[in-house]
Amino acid sequence: MPNTAPADDLDANDLCGWLVAGHDEDGPTAYECRAPVQHTNSGYSCARGHAHTYAEVRAAEGWDYASDPVEAELLAHFGVIGVRADDARPWA
Ligand SMILES: [Zn+2]
Repeated sequence: MPNTAPADDLDANDLCGWLVAGHDEDGPTAYECRAPVQHTNSGYSCARGHAHTYAEVRAAEGWDYASDPVEAELLAHFGVIGVRADDARPWA
């Protein structure tokens, strides 16, 4: 049987793995975004607006993702700006 589904041409790297908060019948849950992503020189972004920047680019630009203010403060000790993964705004 010929395989003609376009979606099968995508591997896991081409779908957004961003965890999105949601609800199902059991209550709050999180699921992967799974939207198609577009790769750039510095990272990728998905069709729903999630953006990810590669680690080497973050290091070169002097910032990194921090999941909370405490982690951001730890990064600050090393001269690194901690930003929110959600919208890339600095915590401080
Ligand atoms: Zn996404």
